[in-house]
Amino acid sequence: MKIKCPLCGLENEEGSKFCKNCNEPLFKSEIDNRQKVTEFQKNVDWTEKCPICKTGKLWHIKKKVFLGLSSVDALKCLNCEAIFVKVEEKYKLFEAKDHFNPVWQEYKNKELKGAEWSRIANGGIYPMLYKGMKI
Ligand SMILES: [Zn+2]
Ligand SMILES: [Zn+2]
Repeated sequence: MKIKCPLCGLENEEGSKFCKNCNEPLFKSEIDNRQKVTEFQKNVDWTEKCPICKTGKLWHIKKKVFLGLSSVDALKCLNCEAIFVKVEEKYKLFEAKDHFNPVWQEYKNKELKGAEWSRIANGGIYPMLYKGMKI
């Protein structure tokens, strides 16, 4: 696989460390890491920023399953009291105090992966809510 120079776009031979044309470093993994770091800085993890109120932090709690004997892992926002119950790899929006919250209305009882909740917490999916809304 040729390595495309991120600066001038020239395709360099595999294993090249610097661009033949402009001398830009071509350490692919470093470039990838740099991109990951900026992405990480942009997107706060949803456990740091509740997807519902965008204010509170989420804390791990044990929640007793309704009528069940076992308890499940859950996350609770101390600000808006939203509760996310862990369902295998996903988290289900189980409860929120403010039922007029648009995120609650759209995502109540939905199971999403942590990454998807992060996107909502960071406003990624949130504006799309209005797409299907009837005015
Ligand atoms: Zn170059
Ligand atoms: Zn909250």
